[in-house]
Amino acid sequence: MQKLIAMNGMRPTGPLHLGHYTSALKLTLGLQNSSTCKEIYLMIADDQALTDNYGNPAKVSDNVLEVALDYLSCGIDPNKVSLVLQSQIPALKEMAFYFLDLVSLSRLERNPTVKAELKQKEFRNNIPVGFLSYPISQAADIIAFNSDIVPVGEDQAPMVEQTNEIVHKFNYLYGNGKEVIHPCKIMLPSKKESLRLPGLDGKSKMSKSLNNCIYLKDSPDVIKTKIMSMYTDPLHLKVEDPGHTKNNPVFIYLEAFASDSHFKKYYPEFNSLKELKKAYEKGGIGDVKIKRFLLDVILETLSPIQEKRKELEKNIPYVYKVLEEGTKKANKVANTTLKRIKEAIGLEYFNNSSLIEYQIKKYQ
Ligand code: ATP
Ligand code: MG
Repeated sequence: MQKLIAMNGMRPTGPLHLGHYTSALKLTLGLQNSSTCKEIYLMIADDQALTDNYGNPAKVSDNVLEVALDYLSCGIDPNKVSLVLQSQIPALKEMAFYFLDLVSLSRLERNPTVKAELKQKEFRNNIPVGFLSYPISQAADIIAFNSDIVPVGEDQAPMVEQTNEIVHKFNYLYGNGKEVIHPCKIMLPSKKESLRLPGLDGKSKMSKSLNNCIYLKDSPDVIKTKIMSMYTDPLHLKVEDPGHTKNNPVFIYLEAFASDSHFKKYYPEFNSLKELKKAYEKGGIGDVKIKRFLLDVILETLSPIQEKRKELEKNIPYVYKVLEEGTKKANKVANTTLKRIKEAIGLEYFNNSSLIEYQIKKYQ
């Protein structure tokens, strides 16, 4: 079977959280540890982070290292995955500039993820053009590496759709029957709870910008405080009351992270989440007990990641080196794609003997 190219990324607007881990990161780790891919690019999208943090560039540049540390702590292997720093790849901006012509303003305004983000950010009448058009810049990120698959959470589906619209329009207009740039497919987590992990408030998606996260680097004490004050089932007032597991973030997190072996170790009264859910729904199990179990599960999941982070924090120059090496490789590929794009549009004026011959003939 033909090996694939995978590409995804995170915005350096804060350290990574459980939402990233359970979706995009786990998928990337899965690809890294299988033989599906010939190349994997994992970006830190600092230019994209600036589109809504332009007033605070230090926040973005500081978090570049945070995200790189989180990537490597989770087990991303730089020998198999290229870490890419977006701002250091000039070809991406050039590509995005040409793609801007292929997308209408109303199309950008219809993007459901951008729509929800605009509501949150309250730009009102001052929406930065850079922010509204970030799906186009993201399309360039994906297209630059000839990506076949984009492993992400569900909120990224509109971005992949936008990317493929650009690909099809570009190839139709400039391809002369050939594929100049490559379409991609979204790759989503198989567990429905991991598609869009809710925040601690139980309302919106866990998101760095919403301050409703359990960060991968949070200390056990901080995680305990966060889990113990989590929103659960407002109708489950007394232990004997029947509880609701649907839309209950504690159970959604258990679905995403708990395995039967966690039950054996930390909650042997039950064999599986299915059994626990049944009992909770019947009544007789207190929220504190469930939260304690969730705490054990999360701490066990994060413990090896945090150990590795401690080691990496002692070797910051190594982390920057990994980022530099990956970015170097990415620049090469992106430059080749950009060359193809410019040639297809007809923007090769110099060292182009066939163009010179054509013009000479025209003027003879
Ligand atoms: P920001 O608030 O700055 O947008 P974020 O927390 O939404 O940050 P991103 O960097 O935008 O994180 O997202 C990076 C990747 O992680 C994307 O693939 C996205 O789908 C995935 N992701 C982010 N949050 C979640 C979540 N709560 N559940 C599942 N996947 C998520
Ligand atoms: Mg986001």
